[in-house]
Amino acid sequence: MEKLPKDLAGLLLPWYDGHGRDLPWRRDVTPYRVWVSEIMLQQTRIEAAKDYFLRFMDALPTVADLAAADEQTVLKLWEGLGYYARARNLHRAAKLIVENYGGELPADSKALRALPGIGDYTAGAIASIAFDLPEPAVDGNVLRVCARLTCCPDSVGDQKVKNRFREALRQRYPAERCGAFTSALMELGETVCPPGTPDCGGCPLEKVCAGAQTGHPADWPVMDEKRPRKIQNRTVFILEYAGRVALIQRPDRGLLAGMWELPNVEGDLDETAALCQADAWGCAPEGLAPCGRATHIFTHLEWHMTGWRVQCGAAPDRFIWTTAKERAARYPVPSAFRAYKEQL
Ligand code: SF4
Repeated sequence: MEKLPKDLAGLLLPWYDGHGRDLPWRRDVTPYRVWVSEIMLQQTRIEAAKDYFLRFMDALPTVADLAAADEQTVLKLWEGLGYYARARNLHRAAKLIVENYGGELPADSKALRALPGIGDYTAGAIASIAFDLPEPAVDGNVLRVCARLTCCPDSVGDQKVKNRFREALRQRYPAERCGAFTSALMELGETVCPPGTPDCGGCPLEKVCAGAQTGHPADWPVMDEKRPRKIQNRTVFILEYAGRVALIQRPDRGLLAGMWELPNVEGDLDETAALCQADAWGCAPEGLAPCGRATHIFTHLEWHMTGWRVQCGAAPDRFIWTTAKERAARYPVPSAFRAYKEQL
């Protein structure tokens, strides 16, 4: 097992008391607020997540409120954050928490891990930050700090390495203030020891950090080579009929599950092919104009999109035909379509 410096907590906690940022989820700490914030922060920058978090808490302040909301309301609150499976899992888990735990998150990391969307990291974060239990939460930030502290020669992408650091950290939890210790490790990784060049001079761990002693701490963590993303061409349609725009719901499973989107097909259609497609849908196209190219990057996939705006002479009911007000209130359209949404 990796050997982490002995007095991590003694060095980190005083630093955290002076340097921890004032973030919305650190005020009024409750298991529900910690849970929602951790799920939001999994794929979203802190700055971007703050407003979403406050809006979410305003609309759905308790687990019971989240459980009772309909899915479209939850997805609408998540609109623009991406990785929508997170929101759907939150919603499913909230229902289970109401059913099985009377609306209170269980103070037990095993029971937490059994809920949809909660893995080792999130269970550790909730258990330690909300319930003050000695449960490590090992995310990319914490792994980077650990890898630099120990000059770890193995790839941190390897689950076994992650598990080893989790166990090594478990030995370093203090008897009190477990939540502050978890938050301090995350905070250090985000602010002082980020990817790229760390600020070892400003780090409370400099004297005990093997990476800093080498003079080139940025050599860690060791990473696996990334697989290149798959590129997919898509053609996106802004179909207009009598001041309304067509949307269609994505399937229940897979990429952007359950979200509403502008009709689109695979391939890079030219004007003639785009007209044929609109006609095949039963839109009786009367005119067509280009509305630009755009790219959206998912984790393993890139969409390279071409857009066509089509004036329709018919409104087939394979689509729903929406006003701007309805789209704003009810239909969550993912940010993959941002370049075209802005033109509606
Ligand atoms: S001393 Fe430098 S490399 Fe080590 S944990 Fe601190 S910032 Fe990171």
